[in-house]
Amino acid sequence: MANSMVVFHGTEAEGLFLIDAIAHNCTCAYDMTGQRTSSCPAHDALLHEQRFIDGLLVSRRRRDELNHQEHDRFDSCGIWVQG
Ligand SMILES: [Zn+2]
Repeated sequence: MANSMVVFHGTEAEGLFLIDAIAHNCTCAYDMTGQRTSSCPAHDALLHEQRFIDGLLVSRRRRDELNHQEHDRFDSCGIWVQG
């Protein structure tokens, strides 16, 4: 929903990853004094798109689950070891 406050429901670490990813992909425009003159789509979404932020969080957690599952294995004694 546009023009409403976005609430991030992730952990502090997830928030730091999100901030880093947004900064890495930021295409905002700034004037000579450092004032932002236009916002990039990533920053607009961060500020105005709750569904987008929630979707990123769900996707990131799902990715982490899949990574852990991929690294789960049986050890040399036949015991299941979670990644
Ligand atoms: Zn930006």
